[in-house]
Amino acid sequence: MRFRQVHLDFHTSEAIDRIGSQFEKEQFQQMLKLGHVDSITVFSKCHHGWAYHPSEANKIHPGLSFDLLGAMIEAAREIDVKTPVYLSAGFDERLAVSHPEWWVRPRYGGSEDLFRPGYHLLCLNTPYLDILLSQIAEVVRNYDADGIFLDIVGVRECYCASCVAEARAEGIDPRDTDGMKPLWERTYANYTRRVRETVDAHAPGLPVFHNGGHIRRGRRDLAGMNTHLELESLPTGGWGYDHFPLSARYAQPLGTPFLGMTGKFHTTWGEFGGYKHPNALRYETALSLAHGAACSIGDQLHPLGRMDEATYRLIGSAYAEVEEKEEWCRDTVNVADVALLSVEAAGAHAADGGHDSFTGQADAGAVRMLTEGNILFDVVDLESDFDAYRVLILPDRIRIDEPLRAKLSAFLARGGRLLATGESGLHADRGGFALDLGVRHAGANPYRPDYYHPLHPLASLGEAAFVFYAEGQRVELTETGTELGRREDPFFNRDAFAFCSHQHTPNSGKDGGPGMVESRNGIYIAWNVFEDYAVKGSLALKETVLYALNRLLPEPTLRTSLKAQGAVTLQKQASKSRYVQHALYASPVKRGAGVEVIEDILPVYQVSMELRIPETIRAAYLAPQRKPLDFKQDGERLTYVIPELECHQMVVLEYGESQ
Ligand SMILES: [Zn+2]
Repeated sequence: MRFRQVHLDFHTSEAIDRIGSQFEKEQFQQMLKLGHVDSITVFSKCHHGWAYHPSEANKIHPGLSFDLLGAMIEAAREIDVKTPVYLSAGFDERLAVSHPEWWVRPRYGGSEDLFRPGYHLLCLNTPYLDILLSQIAEVVRNYDADGIFLDIVGVRECYCASCVAEARAEGIDPRDTDGMKPLWERTYANYTRRVRETVDAHAPGLPVFHNGGHIRRGRRDLAGMNTHLELESLPTGGWGYDHFPLSARYAQPLGTPFLGMTGKFHTTWGEFGGYKHPNALRYETALSLAHGAACSIGDQLHPLGRMDEATYRLIGSAYAEVEEKEEWCRDTVNVADVALLSVEAAGAHAADGGHDSFTGQADAGAVRMLTEGNILFDVVDLESDFDAYRVLILPDRIRIDEPLRAKLSAFLARGGRLLATGESGLHADRGGFALDLGVRHAGANPYRPDYYHPLHPLASLGEAAFVFYAEGQRVELTETGTELGRREDPFFNRDAFAFCSHQHTPNSGKDGGPGMVESRNGIYIAWNVFEDYAVKGSLALKETVLYALNRLLPEPTLRTSLKAQGAVTLQKQASKSRYVQHALYASPVKRGAGVEVIEDILPVYQVSMELRIPETIRAAYLAPQRKPLDFKQDGERLTYVIPELECHQMVVLEYGESQ
């Protein structure tokens, strides 16, 4: 997979003329060189539904008079830049206007203005599918495409005439949502299968990716319908800075080649004249490398076809660095002590913001804590091999059914340990804990918020009773449990007729039972602490969880002096007999309404690292500088100091024979 890709959007209205009239091969090539780009996704068909080349299966854009797609592919090929080809699948406004019966129809009509400008989603269980397939076939037949990128697709709830008629013919009542779900799943699986057959008929094995803006954790079947994964995740475009690490830490262990896709925009797609600071792109692409991913940056071409020099200067500032680094980033596997069983993967996301939130609060809060705590982790689903990890986190909402109970019992029997919080550990279908966590369930906690009083001082805050806002569970200690902290009840819950002060009721000091309990199997914390952290971000929550993880993992693979805004990963590149340890540091700040911005990147000096790895290290050096680095190794314990970390630094640890 190429490491320095651009995703060149080109959604262009028919109300604009002279399309591509300023396209020049040399200028296009110069910009790709300026941007250090080695692959660019170019357009066959946009969301407006127009083709950018002569077409029998589609209609060429009325303002375009030549084969723009062919010209771009030819120009890119001359300078060894790859050209996957984009077709908009879910949106095709040209056809949507003439075939409203093909629109995806929601069950409840929204209150949105019919005349709001924007695209309309088409259902792939309509005659539109055959048209789309013929358009894909035409591209694969006529052009030397390096892949096919299909956009705006996924399993959709739909009550269009085709879906309703098909359901009724099968004896399904369309009002029964659960009864409809197999039809919606089948529609998507049929679409991806027929795309694969269409592509293979002309170009067997050509890469195909179906983009839905998010790789759903726990749906390996959907991920497996792609040849590779493109993790669309524009931090300033609604995904936030939590989404990419969460998504990447799930994707990399799946073993499919993947990339992280950000954008050059200040905000998101379609922002003409919007730019982020070069430091933001440097950081976002480095973050992809640190998580074992290749890089893609989104841009949008101007309708007249001239590539924007400021954009490619900006992209070049990031990709010049990626180009120097990529040899240490190919074919790596992540080293992790801790596995986070994703709430989304366990199917409990409906109570946690749903798929639309992309992250889900429990998963997002957990990833934030693990990253800030510099803990090496992966995100796993119910199919993952838990035994590859020393600690498994069951965040907030992981109820236990029989298959999961059996799997967890085997994990515990082999010496694994659990960190369970909130509802996690309770039976899926009845009361009580499914595992011995040193506690007996006494029902949902009646007080919210209430207080946690740890029996150990917190790292920064010492001893106190800390307000925890999230939902909690009332528990009692059993013989197998040791209390590490207790719950303290407020005097009462805030109510119209009994309230105190501006916010919530003060602590009564009354013991409300255990708040954190350790047992042979691990540690249980009685609140939804990860959701709470995603929403409130309180330090006491993080220090409580990190205290627990530190007890469960007294000898982690990596320990560092790097502070909370830092991030570390350890990637193993076995083919080169080396580890590559990544360190990053940047502080996104809120600027504007809900926009997180990276502008300044300040260097951090003298970052000490302590690793535990079985191999004997022969040499260590900073990469890409190739500057030798002093280190000490005593048994498995390896220590060194990174003299300066500016944005991103790799340390290469070679353990093989010298070459
Ligand atoms: Zn439909």
